[in-house]
Amino acid sequence: MGRPLRVLMVEDSEDDALLLLRELKRGGYDLTVERVDNPESMKNALQRENWELILADYALPQFSAPQALAVMQQMGLDLPFIIVSGQIGEDAAIAAMKAGAHDYVMKDYLARLIPAIDRELREFAGRRSRLLAEKAMQANERQLRAVFDCALDAMAIFNDLGQFTNVNPAACTLLGLAKEDLIGQPIYKYMESTCDFKTAFTKFRTVGRDTGELKIIRSDGTIREVEYSASANFISGLHLAVVHDVTDRNKDREQLLYNAFYDPLTGLPNEAWFLNGLGRSLRQSKRRPHYGFAVLFIDLDRFSIIKYSFGHLVGDLLLNATARRLGTCIRPKDTLARVGTDEFAILVDEIDDPATALAIADRIHKELTLPFQINGHDMFSTASIGIAINFPQTPEYSQTQLPLNNGNGTESSSSSLERPEDFLRAADTAMYHAKTMGGGRTAVFERQMHSGALAMLQLETDLRLALKRQELLLYYQPIIDLKTGQIAGFEALVRWQHPRRGFVLPGEFIPVAEGTGSIVPMGAWVLEEACRQLQQWYERWESLGLILPNRERGEGVGGSVPFLTMSVNVAGVQFGNPGLVDYIDQILQQTGLTGSCLKLEITETAIMAAAESAASLLHQLKKRQIQLSIDDFGTGYSSLSRLQRLPIDTLKIDRSFVSRMSSEAESLEIVRTCIDLAHNLDMDVVAEGVETLEQLAQLRALQCESGQGYLFSRPVDATTATALLMSMPQW
Ligand code: C2E
Ligand code: MG
Ligand code: MG
Repeated sequence: MGRPLRVLMVEDSEDDALLLLRELKRGGYDLTVERVDNPESMKNALQRENWELILADYALPQFSAPQALAVMQQMGLDLPFIIVSGQIGEDAAIAAMKAGAHDYVMKDYLARLIPAIDRELREFAGRRSRLLAEKAMQANERQLRAVFDCALDAMAIFNDLGQFTNVNPAACTLLGLAKEDLIGQPIYKYMESTCDFKTAFTKFRTVGRDTGELKIIRSDGTIREVEYSASANFISGLHLAVVHDVTDRNKDREQLLYNAFYDPLTGLPNEAWFLNGLGRSLRQSKRRPHYGFAVLFIDLDRFSIIKYSFGHLVGDLLLNATARRLGTCIRPKDTLARVGTDEFAILVDEIDDPATALAIADRIHKELTLPFQINGHDMFSTASIGIAINFPQTPEYSQTQLPLNNGNGTESSSSSLERPEDFLRAADTAMYHAKTMGGGRTAVFERQMHSGALAMLQLETDLRLALKRQELLLYYQPIIDLKTGQIAGFEALVRWQHPRRGFVLPGEFIPVAEGTGSIVPMGAWVLEEACRQLQQWYERWESLGLILPNRERGEGVGGSVPFLTMSVNVAGVQFGNPGLVDYIDQILQQTGLTGSCLKLEITETAIMAAAESAASLLHQLKKRQIQLSIDDFGTGYSSLSRLQRLPIDTLKIDRSFVSRMSSEAESLEIVRTCIDLAHNLDMDVVAEGVETLEQLAQLRALQCESGQGYLFSRPVDATTATALLMSMPQW
C-alpha cells in the first residue's frame, strides 16, 4: 500500500492527466483523483472533498492555473498548489509563484514531479502546524487580555526599575488615574509604605513571589487598603501584581468589632466590653490582696417620661450629654460604659479606699444638678446610683453573699459575687434601692436589697410581656347618676391576669409601668379596648330596640351628654405623649364613637406636673368634645387659678374623703367645699368610693351629680358589666 493522497487535477488533456497519474503512482502514492477543467467544476470538487494537493496545467482552453489559484483562495483554502505545464515563460512562472503557487514542474521533465510534491507536502505540513500554533497563541493572548481587562482586581505589570509597563482598567480605577498617566511611573509612588522599597523589590525579584497587605494612595489622596499577590519575571524582566481592594471589608470588620463592644449612640463601651474589664479587675483582685475596685450603676430618673414627652431625638441628645458629663466625673483609669437605655456603669478601678467610689457618685449627682441645654430646652436630670464594692480589707465591704434567682421566682442558696455579671447586677440592685428612696440618691449594695429589687425587676420584665401575651384585661365599674339613680357610664380599670402571680391590681403594677414607660403601649391598649366595649354596648342597646336618649345634664351645666360614657384613666406619661390625640382620633374613627362618649381621667398630681404642656393638649381634646375628669381630687395640691384655666368637666372626689364623710365632720366639709368649688367652676362632681346608703344620701343632699363605689357595684368583668347594664338597675 502506498501513501494515500487526494489530488485535484486542473487539466484538459486526458493523456497528460494519465501521464501524471502514472508518475504519481510510481512515486508510491495511493491516489484519490479528480480532474477538472473549468472554474465551476473546480469549485464543486473543492466543496466536496478535502484535497491535499492541486496539480494545475498552466493554460487550458477555458481555464488557467492563475485562475484556479484564485478560485482556491476565494474559497478560503490554502492547499499545496503545483503548476505542471508544457511551456511556461519565466515571468509567468514568477507571477504564478507570487500569486500563491508553491512550485512548478515542466511536463517534459516529470522526473522532478515526485520530489517537488514530497517537498511541498512536507513544507505544507510544517506551515500548517506553525499556523495552528500561531492561532492558538493568538487565542491565548486574547483570553489573557480579556481576563486582564475584565478583572475586578487591579493588575499591573512592571519592569525591573519598578515602573508600570501595563495596567488594567481596575488598576486605573483603584488609583484614580488613566493608563497613559500610569505607564512609566514607579509603583512605589502610589504606596503608603514605611519600609524600604528598594530592598523589598530586590528580595521579591530573588524570591520570585510576594503576597501581603499594604496601603496605597489614590490620586485624590485617599488611602485604600489592599491585599496583593506578585509574581516576578513571568516574562524575563517583567513582573505582575494582582491587587485586591479590602478597604470596605476591613471597615466592615472594624465596624462589627466596634458594634460588638461599643454603643453607637454615645461612643462609649457597651456592657460586653465593661464586663470584660470588670473580669480583669476581678482576676487582679484575686491575685493581689490589696486590690480593690467598685462598680457604679447609674440610671437616669424619669428618663422614659422625658423620652415620651419630648421624643426620641431629645432623649438621645440627653443621653449623649449625660455620657459626656459622666466622663468628666471619673479618673483616667476608670471605665465608663453604657449598659442600658438610660443606664451607665463605671468601673472604679484600683481604689485604696471605698470612699473613692462614693466620692465619684457624689460628683456625678453634683454634675447632674446643672441643667442640660437640649434643643433650646433647659433640662434637669437626676440619677439613681447603686454601688457594689470589692474591697477585701474592710469586712463590711468585702465580697457580699448574693442570693441567686433560680428562674422560678424563688431564691436558691446563696453564692458569692464570683463573676463580673454578679457585680454589675449587685450594683444594679443597689441602684433600684436608691430609686425607691426617691431618685437622685446613692445606695451601696447590701445583701438584703437583693430579693426586693429582684422581685421588682421580675415584675418589670413580666409587665413588658403582659401585653404581648394578652394577660391584661379590663374591668368596668359603673358610675351612677345620683339624680336618676341609673347607670350613666363606666370606668375602665385595668387588671393583670398573671400566670404565676394570679390576679394583679393596678396599684401594684401601674407605678412600675409608669416608671419604665410601658404604660404608653398599655394605656393605648386600654383606650382601644374600652372604646371597643362601649361601642359593643351601644350596638347591643340598639339591637334591643332601645332608643339612645340624649339625657339633659343637671342645671347650671349646659349641653347634652350621651346616654353612656366610658371613663379611661390616663397616666401622666401618656399625657405628655404628643401622639395621644392622633391615637384617640384613630380609635374614635374605628369604633364610630363620638368624642363626647369618652372621658379621660387624669390624676390631679399628673395634671399639675404637666400643666404647661398639658394646656394645649387639653384644648385639642376639648375640640373633639372629649371630656376630662380630674381623678383623686383632694389628694394633690392643685392651684385653684390653674384649675380654673384648664378645660375640665368633672372633679372626682377622692375616696378617702367620701369614706370618712359620715364619721368626720372635717371630711364632710371638704367634700362640700369640693362640690361647691366644682360647681363654681362649671364642673360636675363624681364621688368615688361610695360604700354606704348614708354616704349616698349625704352626697345627694350636697347636689353631687354622680357616684361610684362598692354600694352600686365593684369593678366587674365585661360580661358581668353587660348583664348589669342590661338589667337597667336603679338606686
Ligand atoms: P382610680 O382611677 O381612682 O380608680 C378607682 C379605684 O377605686 C379602683 O381601684 C376601684 O376599684 C376603687 N374603688 C371604687 N369604688 C370603691 C369603693 O367603694 N371602695 C373601695 N375601697 N375602693 C373602690 P383599682 O381598680 O385598684 O385602680 C386603682 C387605680 O389604678 C385607679 O384609681 C387608677 O388610678 C389606676 N388605674 C386603673 N386602671 C388604669 C389604667 O388603665 N390606666 C391608668 N393609667 N391607671 C389605671
Ligand atoms: Mg380613675
Ligand atoms: Mg380615683
